[in-house]
Amino acid sequence: MTAAALIVAAGRGARAARDGLAPKQYAPLAGRPVLAHAIAAFEACPGISSITVVIHPDDRDLYAASAPKSASKLKPPVPGGATRQDSVRLGLASLEREAPRHVLIHDAARPFVAPETIARVLAALETHEGALAAEPLADTLKRDRGDGTVSETVPRAGLWKAQTPQGFRYAPILAAHGRAAAQGRTDFTDDAAIAEWAGIAVTLVESPSRNFKLTTQEDLIMAEQLLRPEAPLWEPRTGTGFDVHAFCEGDHVWLGGVRIPHDRGLLGHSDADAPLHALTDALLGAIGDGDIGQHFPPSDPAWKGARSRVFVEDAAARIAKRGGRITNVDVTILCEAPRIGPHRDAIRNAIADMLGIEVTRVAVKATTTEQLGFTGRKEGIAALASATVLLPA
Ligand code: MG
Repeated sequence: MTAAALIVAAGRGARAARDGLAPKQYAPLAGRPVLAHAIAAFEACPGISSITVVIHPDDRDLYAASAPKSASKLKPPVPGGATRQDSVRLGLASLEREAPRHVLIHDAARPFVAPETIARVLAALETHEGALAAEPLADTLKRDRGDGTVSETVPRAGLWKAQTPQGFRYAPILAAHGRAAAQGRTDFTDDAAIAEWAGIAVTLVESPSRNFKLTTQEDLIMAEQLLRPEAPLWEPRTGTGFDVHAFCEGDHVWLGGVRIPHDRGLLGHSDADAPLHALTDALLGAIGDGDIGQHFPPSDPAWKGARSRVFVEDAAARIAKRGGRITNVDVTILCEAPRIGPHRDAIRNAIADMLGIEVTRVAVKATTTEQLGFTGRKEGIAALASATVLLPA
C-alpha cells in the first residue's frame, strides 16, 4: 500500500520576481528553506512512501541547494508547467511508473503542515475517494457591492478554507487532471476543485490554522516568529548623509522640500535642496544601496531642475521593497541665512509626507557655524542627515 507525496514548488511569486528575490518556497525560514520544512513533514510521516517536488525549470540550482540531503524518500525533482494546475498534472504523470495507490498534493509554501495532519488525510482516504486538509471559517463574511460597500453578510455556516495536503486515489485524479487539460479547463484553483468537477467525492479533514500558506513578506516574518520566538524580527540599520550647495543669483532656496524666499539662490543641477540630498544619502546608506549620485547622475538631463523629493521618495521605495521601515530621520542644516526656525515645521511635515511616516519621526535642526568656514562666509549651505531603518532580520 503506497502513498506518494507531490509537493508543488513551481510558482515564481510575481511580487518576489519583481523585487528580484527568490520565490517564497526557497526563502530561508528558521535556518532552512521553506520547502525543506514541508519535505521534512512528509519524510516524518510513516504512511508516505515517496516524495516528489515539482519545480520551475529555472529553479534547478535553487532546488539543489534547498533539498535536504538526508530525506530518504525524496525522488529527483520534476519540471512543472505554466500554471499550478499544469505543474500538478505533470507531477502526477511523473508518478506513472511508481503507480502509488494514493497521492497527496501539497503546496511548498505551507511549511507548517504537521505529520499528524498528513496522517489524518491518509487515514480519510481509506474510506473516501478524496480528502483535503481544511479549516472551518471563523470570520464573518461580507459581500462587496463592487464599490467597497457591503451588500450582504454571507452565512459562514458550513464554509471551510481549503488547505493542502489534498489526497486522492492516484489513477482517478491523474485521469481527472488529464481530462481537464484536454478540455482546456485551466480555471481550477485547487485539486479538490478538479476532483469535484470529475465527480470524485472529497471529504474535509480539519486542520489547524497554523498550516497557513506563506504569500507575503509579512507571512514569512510571522512564520519566523512562530518557529523562533526568541529571534529578533527586525535589524536596525543606520545611515548618514552630507551635502553642500553654493549660493548663486536668485530670490529663493529649496530646503527640505520647502520653497523659502531669500536674496540668493542655490546652484545645482536639480533644485539644489541640500537637506533632501543629505537625507537621500542617509536612507540609501542605511540599506547599503549606493548613493544619490549613482541613482540620479547629475550628467542625466532627466534630473535637470528636478524637485528633490523625487530622490527621497525613490530611496524610501527602495527601503519598502526590502520590507524595511523607517524608524526616524534627523536633518541638520548649516547656514548663516536664511533663518530656518520659521520654516522648521513646514520642512518636517514635507519630509514626513515624502517618507510616509509620522511627523514625530522627523527631526529638523539648524545651526550657524559662527561665521567660520564657507557657510560662515555665506558662500553656501551644508546639510547633514541620519536615518534609522528596520529591515527584516
Ligand atoms: Mg546635492
